[in-house]
Amino acid sequence: MEMPHASLEYALECDARDPLRAYRDRFHLPVGPDGKTAIYFCGNSLGLQPRSVREHVLAELEDWATLGVEGHVHARHPWMPYHEFLTPAMARLVGALPHEVVVMNSLTVNLHLLMVSFYRPTPQRRKILVEYSPFPSDRYAVASQIAFHGYDPDTDLIELKPRPGTDHIEPADIRAVLEEQGPQIALVLIGGVNYYTGQAYDLAAITRWGHDQGCIVGFDLAHAAGNLSLRLHEDGPDFAAWCSYKYLNSGPGSLSGIFVHERHADDPALPRFSGWWGHDKQTRFRMPDRFVPMRGAEGWQLSNPPILPMAAMRASLEIFEEAGMEALTHKSRALTGWLEQLLATSGHDRVRIITPSDPDQRGCQLSLRVEGGDRRLFERLSRQGIIADWREPDVIRIAPVPLYNSFADAWHFAQRLRQALA
Ligand SMILES: *Cc1c(COP(=O)(O)O)cnc(C)c1O
Repeated sequence: MEMPHASLEYALECDARDPLRAYRDRFHLPVGPDGKTAIYFCGNSLGLQPRSVREHVLAELEDWATLGVEGHVHARHPWMPYHEFLTPAMARLVGALPHEVVVMNSLTVNLHLLMVSFYRPTPQRRKILVEYSPFPSDRYAVASQIAFHGYDPDTDLIELKPRPGTDHIEPADIRAVLEEQGPQIALVLIGGVNYYTGQAYDLAAITRWGHDQGCIVGFDLAHAAGNLSLRLHEDGPDFAAWCSYKYLNSGPGSLSGIFVHERHADDPALPRFSGWWGHDKQTRFRMPDRFVPMRGAEGWQLSNPPILPMAAMRASLEIFEEAGMEALTHKSRALTGWLEQLLATSGHDRVRIITPSDPDQRGCQLSLRVEGGDRRLFERLSRQGIIADWREPDVIRIAPVPLYNSFADAWHFAQRLRQALA
């Protein structure tokens, strides 16, 4: 039986009413094997290219061609302070103060740099708490930090586990682990949205529970930035880092953002690995011997900024500034909620959504567990112009992204999934 409002007509009506509908045309949409526009549900893995990226990058190539080194000062957007052009928009996007945020390096590099400062284990308090099945790179990074300090990741890396037979981690269980083992935990480092299940965590609550136990609290927001409305300053974690090529549409392998809470902005006692771009910019070019960090997140920079990926990121952040996270999350909830309903009522039991159905515990991603881990279903969908993502052992991740996906996309996906299962 068809549920009410499950039709393509209804989807087209929703699209016509969508105040964000014009943004789709500002992105390059890939084509499927049939030469038609693909259903791109993979913005959680690699965001699409904003059309404006080309002109932003070309402007820098032209300035480099015509100005050479003088571009550091005389380019239309001078290269010397280039990272500063990104800061206000990036800070708004994650709900931070401007001096709490900077764009630099890639994500895993930044996790290491931040752990150098914020993972300071002692024999009594040396554990790191992560969520079940963290992204592999995060697990490697955390385990290697523990080993680097001479401790044993087998005992000192602890993982929050879902209850047997369930897929999510109950907030009450996070609290319980912190209450039981808090005094031994040096660092809580959780993915704001788990990459595999799509579960989103309550950052404010975890921060409070961690701080109550004297732990440092950090978040990896790779799957949260540009996906959820974040309030990092208010929620109060000590630090966070995220990449910009997923929901932030800044291009493959692009740069990472970091957040360091204001309370650490002026702490010279914090150890850190230093480089010249983190040095006080008033005296940077006098090249003094002694390192004096910039105030706030900028003090963690090492190198002068790579202009070309930052130009692409400027183009993308301009779009987020225009659209606004609030409007984006509003549409995101409607779109993902509707897709979830379509999938739930399509009458098959070989595919089950493992992402929480509570909209406060997820972003736009839905993870579909395929019975028996049968990858052929995913391959069939790919041949039909669906671009999604298969994760071993048995999950198809789909992300209807509010900036460029439509209700019609959701309808077509559900339709093709039903056909593929038939
Ligand atoms: C995408 C992602 C990464 C990737 O790290 P890079 O250093 O950018 O290659 C790391 N951690 C998480 C949680 C991710 O989602």
